[in-house]
Parts: sequence; structure tokens; C-alpha cells
Amino acid sequence: MKMFLNEEERTFTFDHSTQALGCDRKLYWRCKEGLRKKAEGIPTYFGKAIHKFAEKFWLGEDYSTCLEAYQKYALAPNSPLLDDATSEENRTVQRGNDVCMWYYKIYSPERARIKVFELGGKAMTEIPFAFLLGKDGDGWTYIYTGRIDRVEQRDGNQIWISDLKHTSWGNPEASSDKFGKQIRPNDQLTGYAAAWREVYGERPKFLEHDIVFVGTPRKKDDKGNFKIPKKVRESGPEAELRWIANVGFGKFPTSRSDDDINDWWQNAWKEGCRMRRMWQQYHINDWTKRTSQCMAYGGCEFRDLCALTSKVELVVNELYVVSHWSPFDKEEESDD
Ligand code: SF4
Repeated sequence: MKMFLNEEERTFTFDHSTQALGCDRKLYWRCKEGLRKKAEGIPTYFGKAIHKFAEKFWLGEDYSTCLEAYQKYALAPNSPLLDDATSEENRTVQRGNDVCMWYYKIYSPERARIKVFELGGKAMTEIPFAFLLGKDGDGWTYIYTGRIDRVEQRDGNQIWISDLKHTSWGNPEASSDKFGKQIRPNDQLTGYAAAWREVYGERPKFLEHDIVFVGTPRKKDDKGNFKIPKKVRESGPEAELRWIANVGFGKFPTSRSDDDINDWWQNAWKEGCRMRRMWQQYHINDWTKRTSQCMAYGGCEFRDLCALTSKVELVVNELYVVSHWSPFDKEEESDD
């Protein structure tokens, strides 16, 4: 979730979340005030740690190198995953180790099939982009930016753009229809398609979400055994082990036409113009709250602030740090 207004150069730079997250107040806290929770939320941090693994994996690295990337992040001194006693039980360091192990096992055959001759047989990962959306009559320039998790070139020259998501609310292997429906109209992926078309002159052939599900760990019954469903037992020992681990994986390919991208472009443009005016002209109370979003994506980090009617400064100092985003900062982590 990022927006940045540069008065001097009259540029407004933003990313997909201005459209996707649906709560203006959230944008106010994060982008205009530049606030960020001192202690990062466990779900977000866990997801970033899994990204570290996947990034190395799709670059063709061996298992120990990939796992090292995950563990370096998961075990960093500021990691909220370190204290497993208070981490949510499905997002501990050990759960992440399980996820990495299964991810490697399941996707290694697919990785071996990716042929990218120009890139040495590897996918490209964590690719930043920025392109000009347009200018308005007031002399403002709008720039759309982001970071693509992965680009693969398959079957010679088909471009696939992939976005990794982690979830704990549904196993994609058990509910693929639900996932497919949720993903198809996704603005973030359309923005990636627009970026690719803008920079390389043609649409990507496919876009996909690469979903990693991490469920609550299975419990043993009174006799110390797992109650493994018959269907899983019939699928063999590997299926049993993965059922016990309670992790699941799924990929959901989709595509965008030129018209889809053009529609997205118009909407992104309007949204950029609207947010730029909000930023410059409006008081905090005009940035409307949408409380239906408070618990989305693992819970909004600004709930403490939104619940308050006074003493905002006190809470800010105690719980938040001010960290304004600067566009094109190479050190900047992706939010999702
Ligand atoms: S707590 Fe709810 S209302 Fe407040 S910023 Fe977050 S999503 Fe918006």
C-alpha cells in the first residue's frame, strides 16, 4: 500500500492497493501520515518469509539455499515469529519450515520444465516496475508502480506472470472454485499485465496466483493418533503426511484482454486523480472509514488508531513508527 506526492516535481506515485484495499482511512494512516506498526503483524511477516524462500526457489537455487533465505528472515532479531508461544499457531517458524519443504517437493518438477533460454533457464523474481499513467490538466503526472513476484517464460516464448499469496482461510486443493472466482477480477494482476504491456509492448499470455495455504496444525486424538480421513489414507503415505502438516498449494491461471487492461488503466487513472486531490485538499475526517475492511487481510494494523477519538499522538508514539515511503527505494519491501 503506497502513495507518494512530490509537490516540487508535481508527481503522484502509487500502487495497486489504492484500489484494492477499499478503506480511505487506511491509506491516510499509512501513506499520508507514514505510520507503520512498530511490531509487524505475524501474518504479513510470515508471508514475506515464505516469499524469500520462493524467490530463491524460482531462481533455480537448491533446497538448502532456499531454506536459508527463509530462515534468515524468519529468525531475524525483529521477527515476530521468534516467540512461538505467542505467534499464531499456524504461522510459527517451524510451520514455515514445513511449508518450504512441501513447496520445494511439489513444484520442483514444474520448475524443471521452465525453459528461459535468454535468462539461463530461470524465472525472473521480484521485478520492480514503474510507468507513466498520464498527466492531468493541472500539470500533475501520475506514475504507477509495483513489484512482480515472478515472470516465467514457458514453451519458448509465452510470458506468465505469477503472484504468490499465502492464506490460512481455505485450502486451494479443496476449494478451487472459490479461489478461482475470487481471483479472476483481481486488479493487482491486471496492473501487472498493464506494466508488462507498457514496458515490453505485448500482453503476458497468462497471469496466475500461486496460493500457499497454511492451516492450523492437526491435533492427535486421546489415543495419540491422527484421525486421517479415509480418502487421504487411500492416496498414500505422502498425502497422509501433508494432511498432518495441513498445508496446501494451488495455482490459478487467468488472462486479460487489451480491453481489460484499457479499462483498468482508466480506473487506475481516476483513482490516482482522486487520491491526489484527497491528499492535498482534505482533512482526516474526509478520508472515510470502511469498517468492513477492519478484519480483512489478517486485521488492519490501524485499528488502535481508528478506535480513538483523542490522544492520537500518545498511541502513535507507543505503537507506531513514522516511515514515509519513497518511490524507487531499492530497500523497500513489497507489502504483499
Ligand atoms: S481499522 Fe478499519 S476503518 Fe480504520 S483504517 Fe483500518 S480498515 Fe479502515
